[in-house]
Amino acid sequence: MRNVFPLLDLGLTRADCMRLLRARGFGSTPKSSCLGCPYHGNAQWRALRDGSPEEWRDVVEFDAAIRAGNARANADGKRLLGQAFLHRSRVPLDQAPIDHVTAREWAQRQAGLDEATADVELALEQGAAEDCSPWSCRSGAPVADDFDVAA
Ligand code: SF4
Repeated sequence: MRNVFPLLDLGLTRADCMRLLRARGFGSTPKSSCLGCPYHGNAQWRALRDGSPEEWRDVVEFDAAIRAGNARANADGKRLLGQAFLHRSRVPLDQAPIDHVTAREWAQRQAGLDEATADVELALEQGAAEDCSPWSCRSGAPVADDFDVAA
């Protein structure tokens, strides 16, 4: 398999693509990603929970299934050290604080935030800006946040 990126080859950025889509009446096109992508932001999780209940059930089930790591790796003696979660809060997805940061809250807060903190807030709300299309890897550094749940 060989990944190809025709839009990047044309020199188009994500913003260019969004402009093209808006100009053609597709302004609400979401970015592509796997359903259970651990880089989803709260807005993406909420959209799934509130708009696609069947898919939400699927990702909640998947989230529970990965808690102890990859079954094949475990069978091979390469056990996961710790637990795996889809949500950054490291809480089961159906209990995770996906309503924690709303778009309105973020907009109200960012006026008083420094740039680095505003970037974190935006990523928590909307997902990482650099996450990928399916079958490719994300290039950016993970976003750290304690979600008010750290000890
Ligand atoms: S392939 Fe990309 S969209 Fe899918 S889970 Fe991995 S990082 Fe997320």
